[in-house]
Amino acid sequence: MLPEIRGEYIFNRKIKEISFIGTGGICDILFYPKDEEDLAHFLHNRSYDLPIICLGNLSNTLVSDEGFRGCIVILSKFMRNIKFGENYVYAEAGAMLGRFITECVENGISCCERLFCIPGTIGGAIAMNAGIPDFEISDVIIDINCINYEGQKFSLKRSEIDMQYRNGNIPKNLIITSATFKTSKKTEQELNSTLDEIFKKRSSSQPMGRQTLGSTFKNPNEFKAWQLIREAGCDNLKVGQASVCDLHANFLINTGDASSAEFIELIRLIKEKVFEKSGILLEEEIIFIGET
Ligand SMILES: Cc1cc2nc3c(=O)[nH]c(=O)nc-3n(C[C@H](O)[C@H](O)[C@H](O)COP(=O)(O)OP(=O)(O)OC[C@H]3O[C@@H](n4cnc5c(N)ncnc54)[C@H](O)[C@@H]3O)c2cc1C
Repeated sequence: MLPEIRGEYIFNRKIKEISFIGTGGICDILFYPKDEEDLAHFLHNRSYDLPIICLGNLSNTLVSDEGFRGCIVILSKFMRNIKFGENYVYAEAGAMLGRFITECVENGISCCERLFCIPGTIGGAIAMNAGIPDFEISDVIIDINCINYEGQKFSLKRSEIDMQYRNGNIPKNLIITSATFKTSKKTEQELNSTLDEIFKKRSSSQPMGRQTLGSTFKNPNEFKAWQLIREAGCDNLKVGQASVCDLHANFLINTGDASSAEFIELIRLIKEKVFEKSGILLEEEIIFIGET
C-alpha cells in the first residue's frame, strides 16, 4: 500500500516518453510530490522495501530498457517556486534551470546565467554540479535543503559538501528539495548579452534540439573527451540508432528509436577504442539507473 499523498502517482509509465534521450523502459511508480511536507510524509510512511530515486528532467540520466522496479520521485511538476531576497535567490529543486536563469535576468540579477542552455532542474544541476569550463553551480550555492529517505528534513551549508567536477557529492539517500544562491546585480542588457553569446557558441558547437544527454564522458585531467574520441576514430560510430554526434563527439544522439542497450553498447565501444588508442579510460558523466 502506498501512502496517501496530495501530489500525484503515475503507474507503469514508459520512461522513454519523459526522458531527454527518448529511451528507457517502464517505471512502476512515478511520484510528483505537492510540496516538501507531502514528500516527507511519503518517505516516512512508504514501505521501506520500495526502491526510491529522485530524478529531475532526465537530461543526464539513461534508464535501462527494463525500466525501474520502484518509485521515481520527480519534483518538477509542483516544487518549482523561485523567490528573490536581498543578495540571494531561493529556488525549489524542481524549478527548471532555464526558467531560473530567465527570471534572474528579468530581475537584473546575476547568478547562474553562464549555465544558460543546460537543460535540467535545479536539483539535477546541484546533484551533478553542472558547469562549464570556468563556472560551476557550486560557485554560487549558499546552502541546500534536503530530505532523507526516511523523511527527515535538514539543511547543508555549501562548506559542508565536497562538490567536485560534475559531481555534487550529495549522499545517495538524500533528496534535494531547495537551495539558496548568492547573487549580485547587473543590468538586464548585460545579462542578455551573456545569454546571446552563450547561445551562439552552443548552437555552433553542440547539437541543439536533438535527443542527447549532453557530454557522455568527463574530461580526463588536461584532456578533452571529444578530442580523444575523435582521435580514436569514433566520429561516425553507431550502434543501431544510437550514434556519435558529428558536431560534438562527446555527445551521443538518438537518431530514431534507439534503445538504452544501444547507447550502453556504443559507450562500451568508445571506451574500448579510446583506451586502445590513448591508454586513457574514459569515465561516464551520465548516470545509469534501472534493471540490467
Ligand atoms: C544538450 C545538453 C547539453 C548539456 N550541457 C551540459 C553542460 O554544459 N554542463 C553540464 O554540467 N551538464 C550539461 N548537460 C547535462 C545535464 O543537463 C545536467 O547534468 C543537468 O544538470 C541534469 O539535470 P536533470 O534535472 O536533468 O538531472 P537528471 O538527469 O534527472 O538527474 C541527474 C542526477 O541528479 C540526481 N538528482 C536529480 N534531482 C535530484 C534531487 N532533487 N535530489 C537529489 N538528486 C537529484 C539524479 O538522481 C541523478 O543522479 C547537458 C545535457 C544536454 C542534454
